[in-house]
Amino acid sequence: MAAAETDRDAPSALCSDFLNFSAKDTAANWLQVSNLPKEVYQHLACYVPKIYCLGPNLNPQNEDLLAQLLLQSPLEWYLCGEEPSVGLAKLEQSNQPSQLCGHVFKVGEPTYTCRECAADPTCVLCMQCFLGSVHKEHRYRMTTSGGGGFCDCGDTEAWKKGPYCQKHEPNISDSFQKDPLVNISAEMIARTYNVFSIILKYAVDMLTWDKEDELPEGLESPARGNMYYCMLFNDEVHTYEQVIYTLQKAVNCTQKEAVSFATTVDRDGRKSVRFGDFQYCEQAKSVIVRNTSRQTKPLRVEIMHSSVVAHQCFALRALTWLGQIIRYSDALRRILCQVGLQQGLDGENSSLVDTLMLCDSKMWKGARNVYHQLFMSSLLMDPKYKKLFAIQFAKNYESLQSDFVKDDHDREFSITDLSVQMFTVPSLARMLITEENLMTTIIRTFVDHLRHQDLQGRFQFERYTAQQAFKFRRVQSLIGDLKYVLISRPTEWADKLREKFLEGFDAFLELLKCMQGMDPVVRQVGQHIEMEPEWEAAFTLQMKLTHIISMMQEWCASDKRVLIEAYKKCLSALTHCHSGFTDGEQPITLSMCGHSVDTIRYCVSQEKVSIHLPVSRLLASLHALLSKTEVAYRFPEQLPLSELSPPMLIEHPLRCLVLCAQVHAGMWRRNGFSLVNQIYYYHNVKCRVEMFDKDLIMLQAGASMMDPNHFLMILMSRFELYHIFSTPDYRKRCSRENANKDVVQQNNTLIEEMLHLVIMVVGERYTAGVGQVESSDEIKREIVHQLCIRPMAHSELVKALPENENKETGMERVIDSVALFKKPGVTGRGLYKLRPECAKMFNLYFHHYSRADQSKAEEAQRKIKRQNGEDSVLPPPVLPRFCPLFASLVNILQCDVLLGILGAVLQWAMEPSGGHWSESMLQRVLHLIGMGLVEEQQHLISSSEDHDTSFNFTLKISRPGEAPGNTPSILALLETLQNAPHLEVHKDMIRWILKTVTNIKTTRECTASAPPTDSSGHSQEETVRDKDKAERKRKAEMARLRREKIMAQMSEMQRHFINENKELFQQSLEELDVSPTSSLEHSPSSCDSALVCVGPRRWHAGGSERRQMVTCILCQEEQEIRADGKAMVLAAFVQRSTVMSKNRKRPPHNPDKYDPLFMHPDLSFGTHTGSCGHIMHSHCWQRYFEAVQAKEQRRQQRLRVHTSYDVENGEFLCPLCECLSNTVIPLLPLTKTTCSDQPDLSQWLNITSLQMKALHSAHKKTNCAEGANTGSVEGCSSPHGFKLDYTPKNPYSSTIKEMLTTFGTATYKVGLKVHPNEQDPRVPIVCWGSCGYTIQSIERLLVDEEKPLFGSLPCRQDDCLSSLTRFSSACWTVSSHTTVQSHFIRLFAALVPDSRVENIPCILDIDMFHLLVSLVLSHPAVLCLDSSGMSADTAQLHFLHLVTVAHLVQILLTSIPEEVRMEQESAGAEREEEESVCMLYNTLRTHLGRVLCFSWLREVSSGWHLWHCVKAGILPYLRAAALFFHYLNGAPAPPELHALGAGEWEALCGYLCLPSNLVQLYNNNQELMEPLLQRWCSHPGVLQSLQTSAALIGFPRESNYLIELPEDYSALINQASSFTCPKSGVDKSRAPTLCLVCGAMLCSQSYCCQTELEGEDVGACTAHTFACGAGVGIFLRVRESQVLFLAGKTKGCFYAPPYLDDYGETDQGLRRGNPLHLCQERYRKIQKLWRQHSITEEIGHAQEANQTLVGIDWQHL
Ligand SMILES: [Zn+2]
Ligand SMILES: [Zn+2]
Ligand SMILES: [Zn+2]
Ligand SMILES: [Zn+2]
Ligand SMILES: [Zn+2]
Ligand SMILES: [Zn+2]
Ligand SMILES: [Zn+2]
Repeated sequence: MAAAETDRDAPSALCSDFLNFSAKDTAANWLQVSNLPKEVYQHLACYVPKIYCLGPNLNPQNEDLLAQLLLQSPLEWYLCGEEPSVGLAKLEQSNQPSQLCGHVFKVGEPTYTCRECAADPTCVLCMQCFLGSVHKEHRYRMTTSGGGGFCDCGDTEAWKKGPYCQKHEPNISDSFQKDPLVNISAEMIARTYNVFSIILKYAVDMLTWDKEDELPEGLESPARGNMYYCMLFNDEVHTYEQVIYTLQKAVNCTQKEAVSFATTVDRDGRKSVRFGDFQYCEQAKSVIVRNTSRQTKPLRVEIMHSSVVAHQCFALRALTWLGQIIRYSDALRRILCQVGLQQGLDGENSSLVDTLMLCDSKMWKGARNVYHQLFMSSLLMDPKYKKLFAIQFAKNYESLQSDFVKDDHDREFSITDLSVQMFTVPSLARMLITEENLMTTIIRTFVDHLRHQDLQGRFQFERYTAQQAFKFRRVQSLIGDLKYVLISRPTEWADKLREKFLEGFDAFLELLKCMQGMDPVVRQVGQHIEMEPEWEAAFTLQMKLTHIISMMQEWCASDKRVLIEAYKKCLSALTHCHSGFTDGEQPITLSMCGHSVDTIRYCVSQEKVSIHLPVSRLLASLHALLSKTEVAYRFPEQLPLSELSPPMLIEHPLRCLVLCAQVHAGMWRRNGFSLVNQIYYYHNVKCRVEMFDKDLIMLQAGASMMDPNHFLMILMSRFELYHIFSTPDYRKRCSRENANKDVVQQNNTLIEEMLHLVIMVVGERYTAGVGQVESSDEIKREIVHQLCIRPMAHSELVKALPENENKETGMERVIDSVALFKKPGVTGRGLYKLRPECAKMFNLYFHHYSRADQSKAEEAQRKIKRQNGEDSVLPPPVLPRFCPLFASLVNILQCDVLLGILGAVLQWAMEPSGGHWSESMLQRVLHLIGMGLVEEQQHLISSSEDHDTSFNFTLKISRPGEAPGNTPSILALLETLQNAPHLEVHKDMIRWILKTVTNIKTTRECTASAPPTDSSGHSQEETVRDKDKAERKRKAEMARLRREKIMAQMSEMQRHFINENKELFQQSLEELDVSPTSSLEHSPSSCDSALVCVGPRRWHAGGSERRQMVTCILCQEEQEIRADGKAMVLAAFVQRSTVMSKNRKRPPHNPDKYDPLFMHPDLSFGTHTGSCGHIMHSHCWQRYFEAVQAKEQRRQQRLRVHTSYDVENGEFLCPLCECLSNTVIPLLPLTKTTCSDQPDLSQWLNITSLQMKALHSAHKKTNCAEGANTGSVEGCSSPHGFKLDYTPKNPYSSTIKEMLTTFGTATYKVGLKVHPNEQDPRVPIVCWGSCGYTIQSIERLLVDEEKPLFGSLPCRQDDCLSSLTRFSSACWTVSSHTTVQSHFIRLFAALVPDSRVENIPCILDIDMFHLLVSLVLSHPAVLCLDSSGMSADTAQLHFLHLVTVAHLVQILLTSIPEEVRMEQESAGAEREEEESVCMLYNTLRTHLGRVLCFSWLREVSSGWHLWHCVKAGILPYLRAAALFFHYLNGAPAPPELHALGAGEWEALCGYLCLPSNLVQLYNNNQELMEPLLQRWCSHPGVLQSLQTSAALIGFPRESNYLIELPEDYSALINQASSFTCPKSGVDKSRAPTLCLVCGAMLCSQSYCCQTELEGEDVGACTAHTFACGAGVGIFLRVRESQVLFLAGKTKGCFYAPPYLDDYGETDQGLRRGNPLHLCQERYRKIQKLWRQHSITEEIGHAQEANQTLVGIDWQHL
């Protein structure tokens, strides 16, 4: 290929230039010339095209090297005037660096901000600075960086306290603000200046160059080539797939190449996709353009001359070089800044920096990144030039933003993103506001981009096009800029600042005016709306502006003059909005209770109404702020209040509130969800501060300036309820006339809402300025009311509270004063509970309660009161006093119109409800009366001195209604109502009211010095008794209802509960009906044999005890376990396991060739069997499983839903407990034993050896006969009674045989990962292995949990082990006997070496427990041929002895560490052991020494040490053996083994029929053992293993644990942030994921690290599990702070991480950023799940509980 050749030619063509070139000479020449720019340009013109762009693919390494030598080096020589390495080092030395850290963040790196000291949340520290700062002791927040931005350590403006970490603490002796230029010589300054101005100019010219085929003046090279690039540019419109597809077509490349092109285009912004002559490139371009222009604008493609591309490449390189060079010295940095900001020839805004900025959106991503980086490390790091740059940035602001809005790149790739670096610096922001009028500029620019307005000049978002919506999204970033500018409030105001701020405020009002009344709605009657109007854009704008509005208020509040000016401006803006608000509206007059008022005719239900009223709301908050000032207290006449028209103020907020009430009443149903959503957000915590809350304040402000009667009449009129209350009989007449129940219902709701509004207008006083409160009181009250609903976690509370612009709620300051913290357990989270004394603040009509919250809180509060034995009445709380401006609001309570309303409702309530009134309505009325009384009480208390008794509510409610109606007084009505049977639920409250009235009267009379009269008499007592009776009845009824509800809930929850607490449920269930098997086996034996589990002397079960009855969970029938009976099975789950592996590097075996007969002591892959312990008939199970299969097939046909279990793989859920299972274990009876005289070890060994010999030759013979092999066969007589051709009768029934095969095949299939094949000779081996492995793993669990060996296992495990062991001892009966015999021959040869048997591993490569199990379990196949009366028990004992000796040897050879402790003398008891083990050790040394003289078996003098090593090493084996024989032979364990304690060793040895000095096994049969020992040691494998001792496994094998995790979560984040994708090598991994088993970090969930596994593409995690966890994996997703469980390719779930914040909560997704610390208990819980092989089960439960988990493509993680 031509392309490849050019590639290869490139270096050689340059070779001569390269050899002759001298950077030093070139630099020296440059020092002489008069026109340096021309010379340098010539140099670049000559070399750049020779280095860059010589082939289709850029070759960065080569190019960089040459660029360094030929281009940069002369520049550096020139700059330094000497050898650059020397010169630069000198520069660095003389440099006095600034105190800014300036560390630029990588993606995913942890950043810290101090919630106490940071000037704003954008001020962050890098991890290093943070750890060295004072803030680590403060309340801080941790987040992960999105990349870009830098550490603010050392910036005094960024931190209120502790701006420096230890490292960046300024040295006091340094003159801090000194000009860095004084550090270098004038010549150097001049040279630097020259170089920087030439190179920066060159780079700027090239990067902003827009001609494809020619170069700037002076760069045109004489030898101009003729090659072109077809350059593809990035856009955000086309998808990856489109680009890949198009490229494959256009440039004829493979999919893989196309993916690589697309990736580069996405990352760098452009990529050449073709290299060649113009024609060739043009061809590709036209294909691409044609292919991508169908729906959208085509992809941008340009044909560029190779020399243009070459210079652009070097331009980028040059900018990077500048960035590196200035790092040596602050002086160089300052010169670069100076060069960059120097005014160009074209006047204002023509510096190089300006040029770059203004071309930003025309550049490709890669170029932008490079120059942004340079700006960050130069302009933004120099205090002087940061300011100058900020000014230029502000001057260009409008233009930059317009470019950005038109551009389609994300903001992080735009120069506008640098605003945060400047605008958040308070001094800069202030300066930009005053000097450059930045505030106004930002707001005006923003408004200019939102020019979609209606005739009244309001925004119109309703009919937004997609393009407008896109633009709107981009424009929003300007609000962010505005926020930065405003974030720090001025402490001092200069006149200029006032002027410019108010100018900005004017601009802001213009913006708000465009929003006032936007997106109005009209009630839809008759037909449902056809199209849901767009509402989100308007609310997005509102939400984005919420913080800005708050900040504007705070700025205003900080200066009295500004506040009053702003108030005036706002008022005139509102007046302007409302101009003509009365036009065309007919005025009407309302009158009631002797009062009348003029208003307009307006119906919310008929005319336009809008939720958006930002101008009114801003005025409301300014009003409250004014009210807080001293002026309002002392000189209210100075305030501009006279210009206000209260009815005008309240009109629009009231309409909005009425709209909500009507929506509530169901009057707006036909307006669709759009309106419902708007109402929801209006009240939502995100918006309410600047919506609902302010409307309420405006109503309060208006009402406080009006006659309360007038206010209430207008209120009624807007609620469209005026007629109901003003016309005495209106209501009755209406309900008679039209019996429309809906209308009645509607009106009831509206009355309820209106009463609620009155309650709020009078009662909401927790805003500073409205009531006499602090802002902390407001937060306290919010928290109290949240906690009145129920105890809550920290994060729930945070969510319920509004956040300020710093994302702070202020909660921490007050939480402890109102709540108690309750720590979490191992699950769940920490909760805050209301302090009991705070319950008295509870207000049932708290304005932020939704109706649901309200009823929950009411129920909870009543319950608590009842529990405390108190009256359950919930009276209104005592409220703070109003501020003077709002003080008159209390008069609403005692005004005639309200009393009229209250009286009317009480009147209606006289009759049992017939739809004319509602319980809620009455409750509200009673609450209002209660409020009046509480208010009066407070007045009495506070005014007891000055006798101000103008508030006399009791007097008002005692007065009867006026003539001619002559209605009874409210008090009289209440007295009547308290006995009404239909008002049972309200009796508490009525009684409380009456009592309070009496109290108040008493007080008043007291103060009026009149003696209190006791009006209560006999009759009252009687009513009390009646009431009590009724109360009891009511309570009984409520209790009954509650019970019923609980029962209903219970049954619904039961299923859920069982799922959640499976294990618990199960255990308790089984503890109840104690499993008959276990109880029988543990009972002491009736036989008088000792408690020995193996050998001829072992314990025998009596006949009756051997009977075992079980119940089938499916048909509930009882069944005895018998060999010839119906098969009973246990649901079981078989899985591969690496939990005990000591060698995770061992590659998985090749399933087809692997010979599993000998387990390696590293236990790298095992097969674990577990069970939930539930028993079924085999036929019941089969029927069940078939049903599951059929159901699954139907389901798959119907819809593509997955289940949590894989039926095709034999998986099912246990029908009782839904535990994941994949096979069943048959239950078998205990085997019978015979006791007779038995041969001792040597006799037995002889006989067995003979038998082996006979068998071996017999097998050989058959093999020869089959294979026609002509080997010589030794004639061999079989020993006495050994019949080679005997075939024993299978003792089991056919169903049991079938189940034996089923389980055997399943274990084989899973254990080896092969297709099922019941004929395979490895089937029994895998079964024995699973038995051994499962016992070993359970033995480890018991040790680590410090539980005794026996008696502590849950029943399910007990049953599982017993049936597994017995199954394993029987599984040979369904295999080929010859196969099992030949397995036995090989196993036996490992102990008794036999030259005829080959390929036997040495004893160091065998796990002895597995060997023991396999020997014992395979031996029956040999024993059955023997008719001489030898018992299985004898053989078992001898196997145990032999394997134990072998294990002793194994331990002595591998596990004797260096002695670390001093010699210890031990008491006589262990003397013997120590001596004998010493002897054995020395014997071994001689055996090995004879083979080769080696030094790794050191001489040992201390038997004590040796014996202790041996004991510790062999203990796990003995414990496992005890478990094995216990389950095999059913012998109960001695009591010592049921407890933890000292006697374990002796008890174990006794139980296993072993001498407690194990070496005696050797000593007693020395003549027999000696030769064995020798043969073991002489196996070549022993030597080999010892020589490569790294792989040696020592004993005892330590238990595996999950990796250790750091205490502080940010350490993990930091670790992950420096992790790069191992495949691509440079890219940061998006989802770094930590394997908790082995500690490997993986690049998860990413295309780059997908690999093929068994023909499927899988993600890094899934691939890793196959090697590390045999398919099961436990990971920590570091960015998400989430634990991931994986099993196989299809199963997975997320699990709560073991990291908690101080509030006892996890932070999944790392959204809250509270510091997280490791919770050891939770981590241990995860570890336990892993170690007991419950991960897969856990996933199953999670998936059953949450079906969405099933659909996730787990294999891609
Ligand atoms: Zn730092
Ligand atoms: Zn620092
Ligand atoms: Zn701090
Ligand atoms: Zn059954
Ligand atoms: Zn079960
Ligand atoms: Zn990767
Ligand atoms: Zn791993």
